[in-house]
Amino acid sequence: MASRNVLLIFKSSIMYKPVIYKLAKDFDLVFNILEAKILPRREGRILLELRGEETAIDEGIRFLEECQVGVERLADKVWREDEKCTHCGACTGLCPTGALNLMRPDMKVVFEVDKCVACGMCGLVCPFGAMKDIKLFDPFAEGRTAV
Ligand code: SF4
Ligand code: SF4
Repeated sequence: MASRNVLLIFKSSIMYKPVIYKLAKDFDLVFNILEAKILPRREGRILLELRGEETAIDEGIRFLEECQVGVERLADKVWREDEKCTHCGACTGLCPTGALNLMRPDMKVVFEVDKCVACGMCGLVCPFGAMKDIKLFDPFAEGRTAV
């Protein structure tokens, strides 16, 4: 089963229409709302984890886009600057989703971007600025799309 974290952006014209439930009903996808913010009559933003078959996730996203929902993949917005990472492990204990893991026996910290929910915690503790773009990423910043 594949997993993908996406940011959904609902304009005022679509934000009260029941489209998300169709992901489960029509595409057999499991979804988990990680965070949500509604600005009444202006915009709604939902950070969603989608799980299911890879093709079903693609079809579900296509359906959302056809419904005029903006869909941005978090993996396209957050990343680690690998050349700056010393694999010190400081970020691994704080990551709430297990996106950063110290792998044995080679003691390298692996970043699984599809598990990342852009909370910014790793950016706050990384002593080498390897995750600095994540720290700046705020999917819920008013009046702008994701960085
Ligand atoms: S921003 Fe950093 S700490 Fe937060 S989920 Fe992503 S990798 Fe983990
Ligand atoms: S805190 Fe920074 S340098 Fe240390 S493992 Fe995490 S990303 Fe790499």
